[in-house]
Amino acid sequence: MIPDRLQILCCPQCKGDLAVLDSIRTAGGRLKSAALVCSRCQEAVGEVVNFKYDFLHFDRDRLRARASRNTPLQLPYEVSQETVGYADPRLELEGEWQPWEGRYQQSEGAPGSRLRLETRCTDIGVRLIKHPWSGWVRFRVDGQVVGESDLYQPSFSTVTWFPIANDLDGAPHVVEIETLGRRHERSNGTQVFFHDFVVTRPARKGEVVEPRLRSENRVLALWDEVVEMMKTVPDDGLILDHGGGDRTMSDPRYVNAEYTHYELPHVYADALYLPFKDNTFDFVMSQAVLEHVPDPFRAVEEIRRVTKVGGKVWAGFAFMQPVHAVPYHYFNSTAWGAEHLFQNMTIERLSWSGDLSFTIDWMCKAVGLGDKVEAERYRAVMDEIKSWDKLITYEELRDVASGVAVIARKR
Ligand SMILES: [Zn+2]
Repeated sequence: MIPDRLQILCCPQCKGDLAVLDSIRTAGGRLKSAALVCSRCQEAVGEVVNFKYDFLHFDRDRLRARASRNTPLQLPYEVSQETVGYADPRLELEGEWQPWEGRYQQSEGAPGSRLRLETRCTDIGVRLIKHPWSGWVRFRVDGQVVGESDLYQPSFSTVTWFPIANDLDGAPHVVEIETLGRRHERSNGTQVFFHDFVVTRPARKGEVVEPRLRSENRVLALWDEVVEMMKTVPDDGLILDHGGGDRTMSDPRYVNAEYTHYELPHVYADALYLPFKDNTFDFVMSQAVLEHVPDPFRAVEEIRRVTKVGGKVWAGFAFMQPVHAVPYHYFNSTAWGAEHLFQNMTIERLSWSGDLSFTIDWMCKAVGLGDKVEAERYRAVMDEIKSWDKLITYEELRDVASGVAVIARKR
């Protein structure tokens, strides 16, 4: 959760000011929930959900109705957040569940297994694994069905965030996950892996309440040079993590605006329509994002717009990388492509990185050769190629590097 960021936000389309309607504020005045309506285009353009600003995942008709009701509410309490993990004694397990790898409760997914938590809450969500052997689940609050989810995805396994309910009354509620056994036509199984519930609830007496800033990174580590650049931002400055994925930082200057509905971002937005006012950020970092936007030129123009004059941008993106994050991978870029992308800013440095052996290994694995070729033989070939990396100069690497990185300043 972050301190209110309303003053830097705007309509993603017309960049007009936002009106906050039908708000729910905590006893301390923090904005927990609202409909956001553009005062210029008079349209419901976003929603505040449990302190997060969401310009993507909302139903416009529902939000319009909410805005027209406009009955602002102040809660008589502050709220705090906690996670209830797989081994928490408050979980009630019904049917076949077992602890898995010290991190999950696992069910084979036969219909009717239940995992239940009774807790005071205003908002609750759950993190479950999506993977190729998954089944389906149903969510209930106080016995009422509030949603269903297919946990199947074709490759990899990812811990995925599922909001279950928001803006409840803070009284005790029974939240339930029921396995349905039903499976996606391509799923190899009906498994369900539970990681944790994330519970927002009335703060207890004497408890330290939000805004509590924490650091957590469930995606790529930040590059050292990015961390160094963050240090140059003044204490009262602002940092945009442009498509930062599932991460947050215990730094009041830090704002993560992300497309995917992960748990940790502060703002959910489209890179082509950033909901930030012009000249807002001292530093914008964009790590492995630009290959995943369908119009990278427009995305960079949006980055330039929200950067302060004299402010800096660090952007690293794909060159010789195989397709990943299917189907959200659109354009890879050469070093010259990177120069064109940032032509309206002053490029202070253009660099490239990622050894040839790293690239070849990734490409081979992308087409399954890591499994199709006998392990020892695969390793022998890769070891041989790895020994060639040192024969390649930095200038030569430019033409085969895994990625390119730009440091640019707004004029
Ligand atoms: Zn507007």
